[in-house]
Amino acid sequence: MNENRNNKNTPSQNPPSGNPGGLNIRIGFGYDMHRLQAGRELWIGGIKLDHELGLQGHSDADVLIHAICDALLGAANLRDIGYHFPDTATEFENIDSKILLEKTGRLIEQKGYTLGNIDATVCAERPKLNPHIPRMQQTLADILKTDIENISIKATTSEKMGFVGREEGITAYAVALIRKI
Ligand SMILES: [Zn+2]
Repeated sequence: MNENRNNKNTPSQNPPSGNPGGLNIRIGFGYDMHRLQAGRELWIGGIKLDHELGLQGHSDADVLIHAICDALLGAANLRDIGYHFPDTATEFENIDSKILLEKTGRLIEQKGYTLGNIDATVCAERPKLNPHIPRMQQTLADILKTDIENISIKATTSEKMGFVGREEGITAYAVALIRKI
């Protein structure tokens, strides 16, 4: 038996706060949803998709980019996308969400972090997203100045269940890992 490992009185090396276990990495989670409606363009992952419905929102309503922004901000404990880019501000009206992602990347950098990797899932009944994923990955990797290998995007449906299944909306989930520089 390793006594040190089991001895609660062994003085521990107290890591600085915000540095769990002495690691220099942090994880964040993001979630977003937008309603589908006619007469709007459909933007997901920074690219425009051909579809008869688009996502409704103050910005271009890019649900995937918004989830990724929230994951990055969460990892750095920098609140959320609505805090930095409020939907009451006219400067963000119909804004290209790629600009919000670029600004988010800068906030992360300013706090002394660099991106490790992102893993995201978009949940949409239609259109089929899989053929477009490589272009989304490249687009987002370019904005975040990282390798495409660090941007994972997955697509799923809701098996025709719930509001996603009824094609009333699209949701996205993302986790992000960041590293102290
Ligand atoms: Zn959103």
